[in-house]
Amino acid sequence: MRIICPVKRVPDTAADKHVDPQDHTVDRDRSDPVLNANDEWAIEEALQIAERTEGAEIIALCMGPDQAGTTVRKALSYGLDGAIQITDDAVAGSDAVATARVLAAALADEPFDLIIMGNQSSDARTMLVPAMLAEHLGVPALTYVKDLEIDGDVFTAKRETPAGHQVVRATGPLVVSVVEAINEPRYPTFKGIMAAKKKTVDVRDLVALGVDAAEVGLDGSRTAIVDIAPRPPKEAGRVVTDDGSGAVGAEALADWLVEQKIL
Ligand SMILES: Cc1cc2nc3c(=O)[nH]c(=O)nc-3n(C[C@H](O)[C@H](O)[C@H](O)COP(=O)(O)OP(=O)(O)OC[C@H]3O[C@@H](n4cnc5c(N)ncnc54)[C@H](O)[C@@H]3O)c2cc1C
Repeated sequence: MRIICPVKRVPDTAADKHVDPQDHTVDRDRSDPVLNANDEWAIEEALQIAERTEGAEIIALCMGPDQAGTTVRKALSYGLDGAIQITDDAVAGSDAVATARVLAAALADEPFDLIIMGNQSSDARTMLVPAMLAEHLGVPALTYVKDLEIDGDVFTAKRETPAGHQVVRATGPLVVSVVEAINEPRYPTFKGIMAAKKKTVDVRDLVALGVDAAEVGLDGSRTAIVDIAPRPPKEAGRVVTDDGSGAVGAEALADWLVEQKIL
């Protein structure tokens, strides 16, 4: 089985995000970049599948600037077999549609049985790329997967929904996007980190992919961020002080609930 794991370099999830005021792209150099956390669940799932499937191979796929090489090495340190990195300045600013276009072009000549990826990236949070990638490649997509079973080329998934889950099934090759509930990712081992330094990363540009630069990047994207505003600061809470009897506090709380039209 050949498994592809798309991975993304994102700003540290816990750090404040900064957006370029001119073109509204994420300023990726203002905070420490990390491997998108959702991709770690996909990598873990791929590793578990590979551990029970003889001859399985896992390849990371990353679209990002030169610096994304560290993200690729991080992905490899979990024990992946190789990586494809798409780096081309014309790709910068790509929206979800353009990103899926580039990733699909990178996979056009790559055999695969399964593409497994996080359901979203923590920087843009569109949740669109897995389904768009599947559409470009003409394969099914099982999205928001929290449990995956494989029998030959039949993939059965529990798909997380607001009310619980759906059981969905598709025949591979296909795209699967996963949610946090699917597993508990492992940490890379020291051996894995050392081995990752020597693994092959196939770096390609848009010419190698046969993608016209005009179709991607900031200018080639169909969506544009026209404005961006920080979330307003939280208002200070109201403190109710009771006299020890409970009655004063209870009355104040009841008044507040009526004021808010909750009661
Ligand atoms: C708050 C917010 C909400 C958004 N909501 C949506 C939405 O709902 N739908 C939607 O389609 N888009 C959305 N976007 C994306 C948006 O449309 C633009 O595409 C976006 O502003 C550009 O993405 P970015 O800021 O991640 O830019 P960039 O930092 O340029 O990144 C875009 C992509 O290009 C890659 N990249 C950057 N440089 C290179 C390089 N040299 N070589 C190869 N790859 C490279 C990055 O790794 C990334 O995958 C949103 C963006 C933000 C900031």
